[in-house]
Amino acid sequence: MNTVSVKNPFTQEIICECPLDDELIIKQKIDRCADAYKQPLTLKQKIEGLERWAQLLTQQKPLLAGLITQEQGKPLIEAIGEVDYALSYIEYYAQLIKDESFFEAKQTADSVWVSLRSMGVCAFITPWNFPIAMLVRKIAPAIAAGNTVIAKCSELTPLSAKAMVQLFDQAFNKSGLLELCVSDAALFSSIIMQDSRVRKISFTGSTRVGQLLIAQSAFDIKRLSLELGGDAPCIVSQFADIDLAVAGIMQAKFRNAGQTCVAINHLYVHESVEAELTAKLSEKIQQLVCGDGLDENTSIGPMIHAKAYEQTKQWVAQLMQSGAQILAVGQNAYDGTCFTPMLLKQNLYPDHNEHKEWFAPVLSMSSYSNLDKLIEHINQSKMGLAAYLFTENDAEIKKGARNIQVGMLAINTGVISNAYAPFGGIKHSGYGREGALEGIKEFMLVHYCTAH
Ligand code: NAD
Repeated sequence: MNTVSVKNPFTQEIICECPLDDELIIKQKIDRCADAYKQPLTLKQKIEGLERWAQLLTQQKPLLAGLITQEQGKPLIEAIGEVDYALSYIEYYAQLIKDESFFEAKQTADSVWVSLRSMGVCAFITPWNFPIAMLVRKIAPAIAAGNTVIAKCSELTPLSAKAMVQLFDQAFNKSGLLELCVSDAALFSSIIMQDSRVRKISFTGSTRVGQLLIAQSAFDIKRLSLELGGDAPCIVSQFADIDLAVAGIMQAKFRNAGQTCVAINHLYVHESVEAELTAKLSEKIQQLVCGDGLDENTSIGPMIHAKAYEQTKQWVAQLMQSGAQILAVGQNAYDGTCFTPMLLKQNLYPDHNEHKEWFAPVLSMSSYSNLDKLIEHINQSKMGLAAYLFTENDAEIKKGARNIQVGMLAINTGVISNAYAPFGGIKHSGYGREGALEGIKEFMLVHYCTAH
């Protein structure tokens, strides 16, 4: 049997050899999902199952968080936060379906009855950066809607995903409701694409793979939700509360060592507040400490792998050659494993024709003088996931909300995602939403009936 070596990205030690599912096993798992879909859970079973799953995840939070840190590298406190974040989606969707009318047909006009129905087998593909949360954010609404799920987690982080799915199995005790695969990615996608019982694909990952999935799904007209890459700008205006902006920037940029899709990709600071912001931000960045996520002093864990580290190093070198300056760095005794967090001043705005998603703790910055022109520049990006705006000026808030072309805008905060909010992007950042009512509708079909 083929295996994949799961490594601790900080120590570089192999934690285990994880077996890879071959074609036969993946197909058997889809068979089980398809069979389970034919015997749907009652509403009561779904609610009780979700609530039990949440209870078990809560009980096992230290174990799950420890696994996340071991295989993904983030500080333990952030890993605990990831499990809490995942839990909030289970609780939200369990609560939502307690209102039985959600599944009832609604009369929307004379002789027009509209209802939402489940879809069938849903297939998920998720990345390594939030190995539990990215899965749960999809599984909870899909199961609440009445579907069954086959999911492929990242081969870099299968251990926490497996532990989370074991707790799901314990909670629901029903074979085929949720099947997890660790497998070759291309093999998995070719099998799910060819199986007409799989009606929905939900993917979180890079734009490159998202584009492949769109092409592959065309033949069987499968529905897709795509949570793809980001290019989040952060604007700090002359009307910003600078302390609030610094706190928000630290959260939105350095969480998970910058390896989040909604991380600030470039900071634009009004020239009149640049000196104050730079001084305050530099002080905070200098306090960041790189290290093992299991060490409680660590605020920045390792990069996921050497390739990501080298890519970041190369981009920094390129910017330095074109005149960029490093204004502040964090404390790093593990260079080569952890990337030193830094504030980098660029003379020019980033070139959106060459999309570059840092996915690393490098905060690049430039100053601006005209907000309208800046928004025009930002909107040239092919991406459109998130943006951050720090200003206390109402006219600027309205301008930002109306004109910045993204799926999600955070004003005066660095925290953008929660279970009540429809998370997702536009343009090359994908389509479809996770969380809120929109998140469950991604896994439901609209059915209309007329009767005279
Ligand atoms: P990736 O696209 O390489 O991998 C994501 C998943 O796709 C993994 O499970 C991987 O095994 C699988 N995959 C790889 N090649 C495939 C193929 N040919 N066919 C089918 N599946 C394939 O992305 P990554 O490097 O793991 O994650 C980083 C990217 O994910 C970033 O661009 C980031 O912005 C994005 N991301 C987006 C969100 C969001 O919600 N929008 C959240 C997290 C990460």
